[in-house]
Amino acid sequence: MRIDLHTHSTESDGTESPAQVMESARAAGLDVVALTDHDRVAGWAPARARATEFGLGFLPGIEISCAINHASLHLLAYLIDPLHEELTAELDKARTSRETRAEAMVERLRADTGLTWPDVQAHFSAGTTIGRPHIADALVSIGVVRDRGEAFDRFLYSGSKYHASHYAIDPVRAVELVRAAGGVPVLAHPFAHVTGRVVADRTVESMVDAGLAGIEVDHRDQDETARAHARSYADRFGLIRTGSSDYHGAGKPNQLGENVTDAKEFERILEEAADSSSAYLP
Ligand code: AMP
Ligand code: ZN
Ligand code: FE
Ligand code: FE
Repeated sequence: MRIDLHTHSTESDGTESPAQVMESARAAGLDVVALTDHDRVAGWAPARARATEFGLGFLPGIEISCAINHASLHLLAYLIDPLHEELTAELDKARTSRETRAEAMVERLRADTGLTWPDVQAHFSAGTTIGRPHIADALVSIGVVRDRGEAFDRFLYSGSKYHASHYAIDPVRAVELVRAAGGVPVLAHPFAHVTGRVVADRTVESMVDAGLAGIEVDHRDQDETARAHARSYADRFGLIRTGSSDYHGAGKPNQLGENVTDAKEFERILEEAADSSSAYLP
């Protein structure tokens, strides 16, 4: 069984539609794939419809933007009730704030790069969770940088003078809300120092106390030391261990199935959910 539990579509900052992500997952030889767009569930229906057509296992998920002490942190959440009011309100709030924040960043970038808001608008459709990758795509299309990677390295990294932050929920409250919505919270790439500050040990521990179910171990932004640290949490607290690609289509080098999750760990996710009937398992 090849199981990849972390991917993005055009409903957030991936470059393929939800249905296309499923097609790519089949082509990559996966048996089960989770779609985990940032702060948004709109991709679930088209993804599940396409996965069902060719008998690919589908797990609905999201990647929730969280922040603690001004550092961002990502929480994967599987099999949540997408109509849970408090959780939905939080996701809406983050998405709205992400738009304001993107406009603020474009304002800061304008003098030095000539970038305008319409340049960015050309790279997402209504409802999409807007992120720095969309600004990166716009910088590519006006010829300032070659790809998203260069845009992050030169302009968009956190700490850059062009960077602005957005509203994001406290991670302990996010864990509680995911559990309240019947879902299974899994801490995403906690020790990925490649892409920013790592999550503090005391934050992980307070999330465990709040009901954290799992931790992402195998992820390209975590080296062997980081993975060993994540594994030690899994051992200490009995957390589910996941591995995944964090696929963003052409937006990142990450390839589907480059890291995978054991079938036993995947089973535990299904067992911990209040209702796993929204997963499709051929
Ligand atoms: P944001 O959600 O606006 O804070 O932007 C973070 C997103 O940008 C993450 O989901 C990453 O996948 C993506 N990202 C971060 N660094 C890079 C990079 N160097 N190249 C492409 N995408 C990146
Ligand atoms: Zn992303
Ligand atoms: Fe992430
Ligand atoms: Fe991600």
